Amino acid sequence: MRSTGAISSAQLHELEADIRDELARIERSLAHEASDEALLTADGTSLRVAPGFGTDAGLTVTLTGRVHARHMELSEALRRITDGRYGVCGHCGAAIAYGRLLVVPEATTCLECR
Ligand SMILES: [Zn+2]
Repeated sequence: MRSTGAISSAQLHELEADIRDELARIERSLAHEASDEALLTADGTSLRVAPGFGTDAGLTVTLTGRVHARHMELSEALRRITDGRYGVCGHCGAAIAYGRLLVVPEATTCLECR
């Protein structure tokens, strides 16, 4: 019997649950961020800064962009689970170790190809 080192279906389900939890957490933080922004612009005594200008606004945009990127990567990972392509290195085609997926569930390459 050939061992591919591929993750079991139980491990896959666990990773899928982790990814869904993380996506929900990101969506909550994005919703929170959006309401903070609304409060800031509604406050007449605050300096109104157009998005993308000034240090604070620039920092917010950068952080939000990073969170959006992670949200997209996790969504992609969920799609790969649905397609049955999850946990396979996109570079060499080897199975990605379960331990690596636990730490980086959105990983698309094995440790060697990272
Ligand atoms: Zn690889």
